[in-house]
Amino acid sequence: MIYLDHAATTAVHPEVMKEMIPYFGELYANPSGVYEFSEDVQEILRRVRQKIADSIHAEPDEIYFTSGGTESDNWALIGLAEGLQEKGRHIITSCIEHHAVLRTCEYLETRGYEVTYLPVDGEGKISVRQLERSIRPDTILISIMFANNEIGTIQPVSKIGQIARRHHVFFHTDAVQAYLHEKIDVRKMQIDLMSVSSHKFQGPKGVGFLFVRREVSLPSFMHGGSQERRKRAGTENVAGIVGMGKAVAVGERMFQENHSHLRKMRDYLIKRILTDIPYCRVNGSQKERLDGNVNVSFQFLEGESLIILLDMEGICVSGGSACASSEHTVSHVLQGIGLPEEIARGTIRITLGVENTMEEMENFIKRLIPLVSQLREFSDEYQKLKG
Ligand code: PLP
Repeated sequence: MIYLDHAATTAVHPEVMKEMIPYFGELYANPSGVYEFSEDVQEILRRVRQKIADSIHAEPDEIYFTSGGTESDNWALIGLAEGLQEKGRHIITSCIEHHAVLRTCEYLETRGYEVTYLPVDGEGKISVRQLERSIRPDTILISIMFANNEIGTIQPVSKIGQIARRHHVFFHTDAVQAYLHEKIDVRKMQIDLMSVSSHKFQGPKGVGFLFVRREVSLPSFMHGGSQERRKRAGTENVAGIVGMGKAVAVGERMFQENHSHLRKMRDYLIKRILTDIPYCRVNGSQKERLDGNVNVSFQFLEGESLIILLDMEGICVSGGSACASSEHTVSHVLQGIGLPEEIARGTIRITLGVENTMEEMENFIKRLIPLVSQLREFSDEYQKLKG
């Protein structure tokens, strides 16, 4: 199998798995216990919190463990909206956010909040000027993703942070795809809240964190016990949190190496696709792009058919985001960057991971080229064009 869908999820790193195992066995204590058995577990949670805080230049009491990206996004948006409803009920986001943000915004609209969905340009970037113009006296939150999960475009986060701070509006960013791929300094970038998910960087699924700057008073989301400083009740996913901490350590240790390896494979793939296959285009930003992302539209074919044929050859790629792929609709991100529907339909997302090799890239291209030609045989338009 050649797995090229790392934006959907990644395999847990062997070092991470090894680190987690004792917490299913001999170290099973509930961290809330008052005995020594629990203290060891409390200590490891403390260390992971510190490690994560250091990785983004935050303080440990600004890190809240959650069940992942979706929960962090929901908590950030709903929590802030409810907490600040006396100040205002206007939120600004972009039209290409992950559904964890978009559907939460839609929910808030049903609760009397107003949401501005900023458009993006052809590369998937918002305009910071337009963002600034959209701020109103009743704006309470700007939520713009760090990097897009489908086309890999990285937003001008520092500029957004500056604008938000200048206008005294909170800034949340969904950094699920960017964390450990891009350097993030929440202080310098003036980020107030940030969502992260562990399974995108070789950690386990069902765990993540929300960074909340100390000055932001975010109401509790899960009500119950006193875990996470009374903000997020529920017995901690200890093994998951330990695994996430180890994945951060491994990701940081390998940062430079991973960065150049992914880039090399990505740039090679883009070059080969664009030179060897006619009538195709790479979507997203050429410069501000995630290391492992190749999003490409082939004219005169259905992306879904290509995905199935690739799957039959043991190659995993996706159409849009994993969450949208069962909906059979054209991705809102591709619509957002203005792709005509017939081109958007021929799109596949290839996302590379650290365990991929150049040999796999070569193999992938070798199989992709004939499959694209094979599918285009069914297109009357293509046949006409060929004469
Ligand atoms: N936000 C982005 C940008 C994502 O790519 C994803 C997952 O694909 C999520 C949020 C949801 O994260 P989780 O799967 O941890 O709920």
